[in-house]
Amino acid sequence: MTANENRESGEPRIALVTGANKGIGFEVSRRLGQAGLTVLMGARDMALGETAAARLRRDGLDAHAIALDLTRIDLVQAAARTIAAEFGRLDVLVNNAAIPGGAADGPPSTADLDSVRRMFETNFVGSLAVIQAMLPLIRKSGAGRIVNVSSGLGSLTLNADPTWRFAPYKLLAYSASKAALNMLTVQLAYELRETSIKVNSADPGFTATDLNQHRGTQTIEEGAVAPVRLALLPADGPTGGFFDSAGSLPW
Ligand code: NAP
Repeated sequence: MTANENRESGEPRIALVTGANKGIGFEVSRRLGQAGLTVLMGARDMALGETAAARLRRDGLDAHAIALDLTRIDLVQAAARTIAAEFGRLDVLVNNAAIPGGAADGPPSTADLDSVRRMFETNFVGSLAVIQAMLPLIRKSGAGRIVNVSSGLGSLTLNADPTWRFAPYKLLAYSASKAALNMLTVQLAYELRETSIKVNSADPGFTATDLNQHRGTQTIEEGAVAPVRLALLPADGPTGGFFDSAGSLPW
């Protein structure tokens, strides 16, 4: 049996990636598909999701679009019902979808309150909603993996270091939503500590995508390294940690 097969059934493992129609989520989907997983590509615009999944299928990968808007609990629950009906379990969940604050975000003195609320609604509450809906299916996996795609900007320790490379990037709404996501990682890993499910946060690194108007210095291939590694962790891999492509990050 390979690492990409469900331990109990020997069937291909099933992965759900949110926000998979473009950027890092698309590349993570491609890499998981190449690793032999069946990939469900969450998209809030199904036309974009179908186009993205068709691109991967043309490369011979087993990829399918699934409607999933983090701010629509009805769609999140419907996605869980679809996965339950078609596969009966979920082996890998990559909570990748997120929004940036744009011009309305900024340092604490000026960050727009509506922007802060919107960012928490999608990046934190939305990711939590997906986890809550999918957890019963992940518990049915022999080796569940949950990856919360966070950011170095969500690290309290790095934010507190004035010499850190990204110290001048004080985007309160975005950074706080990712710090909250990191708390979700720590608490969920603790809650699931007696199970085989592993929960970790990934920092993709500063990656050229629509999120930052392609100002990032890494390619999406480089940005996908940490999330993919955590999605495919072996049984003796870590849980409750925060990692980039180079290793462990401080909370
Ligand atoms: P991106 O290219 O803008 O992709 C974001 C994805 O999230 C898109 O598919 C988008 O869908 C989706 N999305 C947004 N709101 C959603 C919602 N309410 N429901 C469902 N999907 C939603 O950004 P990216 O750079 O690939 O970011 C991926 C992840 O990496 C994010 O969590 C981001 O915070 C994190 N990250 C990125 C960087 C970086 O430098 N790029 C650095 C650190 C962390 P639409 O196409 O419909 O908008």
